[in-house]
Amino acid sequence: MSSAKKLSVVLPLHNEEDNLEELHSRLRAVLEDIGDPYEIIFVDDASTDGSFEVLRDINANNPFVRVLHFKKNCGESGALAAGFSAARGEVVVTMDADLQSEPKDIPRLLEKLKDYDVAWGRRTKRQDDTIRKMFSWCGNFARRLLIGDNAMDAGSPLRAMKRDVAKKIKLFKGLHRFYPTICRMEGFSVTEVNITHYPRIHGKSKYNIRNRLFGYIVDLLAVKWMHSRHIDYEIIEELDERTS
Ligand code: UDP
Ligand code: MG
Repeated sequence: MSSAKKLSVVLPLHNEEDNLEELHSRLRAVLEDIGDPYEIIFVDDASTDGSFEVLRDINANNPFVRVLHFKKNCGESGALAAGFSAARGEVVVTMDADLQSEPKDIPRLLEKLKDYDVAWGRRTKRQDDTIRKMFSWCGNFARRLLIGDNAMDAGSPLRAMKRDVAKKIKLFKGLHRFYPTICRMEGFSVTEVNITHYPRIHGKSKYNIRNRLFGYIVDLLAVKWMHSRHIDYEIIEELDERTS
């Protein structure tokens, strides 16, 4: 990015102790390279492993790192919402804390914010097991069919957005999987950028078909309802007391 806009990177995490140091050093290298002011906000969603102790050390040695520590587990959407609310940057990037995304993809997303409000990562070669990929494919397909939205990888972990988007959109549990749809509904422009995806090496995925399927269907219906009831007015002229 050419102009020096402050960048906030928000990372939701739950039990990612073995990923955090490497993630931080790889992310920091990319952000230093970009050269704009930045902050990294780790949101510890009530981890029960040593994640918070690792984050305490990272924070002690790095002035641009902030840590929010939840009392109880609120889920990924809750952690993102807290990070968005705390973010001080003009641009907000989100990434999972599991080393499955490539921080070097961030500059390409930022480049797109010259023309769009949101740049959404698309994992073209997703490195997850077949069941997970099939579930995600079906979810994306059902969403496109029911809502008419064209996002190909709505659950992607890597996204960049202008500050207004992060501050305006109200998140509910599970709705991070519908974020591009909701952004478009609110009138923001969204584009997709192909991103790298790595297999998970340390720690475990927090989702499986059992804890996701029912919730996903309910969320899909809720977003469909919101979409069909969305108020979309345009004021063509405004007359107030000084006009008459
Ligand atoms: N996460 C979180 N709270 C939760 C569940 C997950 O903050 O209750 C974080 C998790 O640590 C990771 C991101 O959300 O940084 C995505 O989770 P995960 O990698 O398990 O999801 P997957 O990539 O398998 O869909
Ligand atoms: Mg992951």
